[in-house]
Amino acid sequence: MSGPSFQYSRATNVRDALIQASRPDTAFLAGGTDLLQLCKAGATAPSAVVDISRLPLDHVELTDDGQLSLGALARLSDVATHPDVMRYHPLIASAILASASGQIRNMATVGGNLLQRTRCSYFRTEGLACNKRAPGSGCGALAGENRQAALFGVSSSCVATHASDLAVALTALDAEVEVVGAEGPRRFPLRDLYRLPAETPERDTNLTAGELVTGIHVPNASRFAARSTYLKIRDRASFEFAVVSVAAVLHIDNGRIVAAGLAAGGIAPLPWRLTRSEAVLVGSAPDAEAIAAAGDLAVEHARPLAHNGFKITLLRNAVIRALQTIGGQS
Ligand code: SF4
Repeated sequence: MSGPSFQYSRATNVRDALIQASRPDTAFLAGGTDLLQLCKAGATAPSAVVDISRLPLDHVELTDDGQLSLGALARLSDVATHPDVMRYHPLIASAILASASGQIRNMATVGGNLLQRTRCSYFRTEGLACNKRAPGSGCGALAGENRQAALFGVSSSCVATHASDLAVALTALDAEVEVVGAEGPRRFPLRDLYRLPAETPERDTNLTAGELVTGIHVPNASRFAARSTYLKIRDRASFEFAVVSVAAVLHIDNGRIVAAGLAAGGIAPLPWRLTRSEAVLVGSAPDAEAIAAAGDLAVEHARPLAHNGFKITLLRNAVIRALQTIGGQS
């Protein structure tokens, strides 16, 4: 008796990868740390995988103007321990070191981390109702176990959160993503990589079929290097995804906040930029009043479910704690 057919191939260059991925139902394989888990859980079953792990996309470079360029295949551990990242982009290093385990970080790639799929247990357990896994089957989490569910950006089709710590840090830093597909390369804000679930929760991103993430560009963040933090609150101290996380950077000059970047994880289907909190901070002194206002604004319009209301307090307090950590008088 023969099982379903499955093809493995290895790409020799980016063009070759795109050609091979033009077959329907093909997945790219890089570090494999998420894809193999998804296959084992039956959450995905591509008929072909294109191994891109040997493509020359693993650079970690600081340009002359202070921007950081990351190849999509750079290993998380190599990024987090790179001297330029530690010195000029410590938020990125902190977020990565809060992720997964040392062994996983040695295998996982930047691109794969950003594209990892939700940790919602309904999605990763065969046979349970999940619109993301089997469109139209319902959302088991909506009226079921939703302690980990999102507070923002949800729909009646899906309430899952995005799991990447790195994506939260990159969002706070206004990073851009570079992709290439049949129509050529394009570059856009990382925020626009992701989609809210609406009526199509099976689609996590705005990538077109066969499109490949090739790199990440982070603007010069040296003005934030002395005041950045990634605060991750999780159920155990290591190898665990965020219940709530906050990436925060401040630039303070002459006693006033002149620039702020704030994003949160564990509370939305994508890395969630806290723009209203940022706005109330800029122009203010980093005092208790401004910090409390930023915390209050971070949770405005939250839509809790039966079991995740505690995240509202957690998020507000995490924003305040993160800002207290980095907001000491200049
Ligand atoms: Fe599936 Fe989303 Fe509902 Fe989780 S929250 S069960 S991923 S549809």
